[in-house]
Amino acid sequence: MSNLSFSRRFCFSEWGPEKIRQAFDFADDYKKFLSGAKTERLVVKFIAQEAKKLGFREIGFRPKKFGKRIFLINRDKSIILAAKGKKCLSEGVRILAAHIDSPRLDLKATPLYEEEKIAFFKTHYYGGIKPYQWPALPLAIYGTVVKEDGQRAEIAVGDGPEDPVFILTDLLPHLAEKQLEKKLAEAIEGENLNLLVGAWGEKKDKSDEDKSDESVREKVLKILNERYGLIEEDIFSADLEIVPAGGARDGGWDKSLVVGYGQDDRVCAYAAWRAFLAAKNPPYTTVLMLLDREEIGSEGVTGATSSFIKDFLASLLSAENPSASENDLRDMLAVSKAISADVTAALDPNFKDVSDPITAPRLGAGLAVEKHTGGKGKALVSEASAEYTSWIRKILNKAKVVWQPAAGIGKVDLRGGGTVGMFFARHNIEVIDAGVPLLNMHAPFEVAHKGDIYSAFEGYKAFLEGE
Ligand code: MN
Ligand code: MN
Repeated sequence: MSNLSFSRRFCFSEWGPEKIRQAFDFADDYKKFLSGAKTERLVVKFIAQEAKKLGFREIGFRPKKFGKRIFLINRDKSIILAAKGKKCLSEGVRILAAHIDSPRLDLKATPLYEEEKIAFFKTHYYGGIKPYQWPALPLAIYGTVVKEDGQRAEIAVGDGPEDPVFILTDLLPHLAEKQLEKKLAEAIEGENLNLLVGAWGEKKDKSDEDKSDESVREKVLKILNERYGLIEEDIFSADLEIVPAGGARDGGWDKSLVVGYGQDDRVCAYAAWRAFLAAKNPPYTTVLMLLDREEIGSEGVTGATSSFIKDFLASLLSAENPSASENDLRDMLAVSKAISADVTAALDPNFKDVSDPITAPRLGAGLAVEKHTGGKGKALVSEASAEYTSWIRKILNKAKVVWQPAAGIGKVDLRGGGTVGMFFARHNIEVIDAGVPLLNMHAPFEVAHKGDIYSAFEGYKAFLEGE
C-alpha cells in the first residue's frame, strides 16, 4: 500500500512480544482495579489512597497553598489531581477527564417490600441500560448509608467469598410464550426490576402476644439492623448501587480481552490515572479529572457541569498568582487543552447494521480518537477543530501510539451518545474525545481489548508530555 492511503493498524500485529507482555501486565493491574472499585466512591477512595502514598497532598475547596502534587475530592464521588509542570499556569494546563460512574440499579426511596413471603428491593436504574440484560445474574450491593446523626455505614456485599448475592428474577422459558412475543424493550420493564433480597420469616415466640409469624420483610430489616445498625428510614439517606457480582476476567482463548463490569468509563479512568503518574517532565501543569454523573448527562454537584471544575482551576491559578483576575483565568482556559477520555463503540460483527463499517473503530486497533461524538447531525456535542485534531495526531504519531480516527457512534441517523467533552468546550477549553472502543457497552459485562487499553495509556501519556 502506498504512503498516500490510511490503513488501520492493529496493536498486536504492530507490537513485538515485549510490548505485548507490557500490555498484558498493565491489563492485570487494571483488572484488579476494576474488580475492586465498582462505584464512583470506591474509585475515589482507591485513587486518593494511591495518590497519598505517592506524596500527593489533599486540598480543600478554597486552598491557601498548592504544592507540586495535589488532589481535591468532591463529596467522595469525584476527584481532581494536579501535578505542576515547568511552565506558568498562564500558558494553560493539560486536562485528562474521564468519568467513574457506570450504568447500574439504584434503590427507590422506601425500597423494601414483601410479596408471597419473598422480600424485594424496588430499584430505579441509573444511566442507559437495557433492562432485559439484568435479570438472572448474580448481583452485589455497594454503597454508603448516612444515618440521621451523621454516622455512616459502608455496605459491600456480593463479592466476598462467603457473601450472598442478589438476583432479579426472569420467567422460565416454559411459561414465557407471551413474554417472548413482546418487544425487547417491553419484555422486562424497568419498573419490574425488583431485587430479591430474602425469603425467610420466622415463627414468633409462643409467649409473644402477637401470635403471627415474623414477616420476611422484618427478617431483612433485623439483619440490616444487626449488621449495620440501620432502621428502615436510613435506606432513604443512602447511595446504594446494585452492580454485577464477580470480578473482571480475561476473555477469549488468547486472553486478548478484558471482560468486566463498569469499563465505561473506568477503563479510560484507569489508563488516564496511570498516564498521569507516568508522564515524564510534562511541560504544562497536568490535571486528571475523574468525574461522576456522566451517565445521566453530567448534572449534579459532582458532575462535569458543576462549577467545582472551574473553581478548582481558578484556585490553582490564584495559588500561583494571588493577583490573578477572572480575565486571567479565562485567558488560561483559552490556551488549555483537554482530552475527554471516554469509551466508544467498536464495530461488532454480529450487529454490523448499526455501524458504518468503513469508518467505525475496530477492537484491537488502538486508541480511538473521536473528532466528535454523537449522531444525527452532530447535535448537542462538541467537535474538535481541524487545528486541534492535527495537533493531537502529531503528538500521537510522534510517540508511535497505535490509534484510529473515529467520529460519532454508529450510523449517522442513529442517536449515538455524548461525553463530558462539551462541558470543557463551554469553558473555552480545546477538547477532543479519545478512548477505548468497547463491545457490549452498558451491558452488565463489557468487553475491551488489552491492546486498546495499553494504547490509551500511551496516548494519554503522550498528550500530557506533549509541547
Ligand atoms: Mn462513557
Ligand atoms: Mn456510558
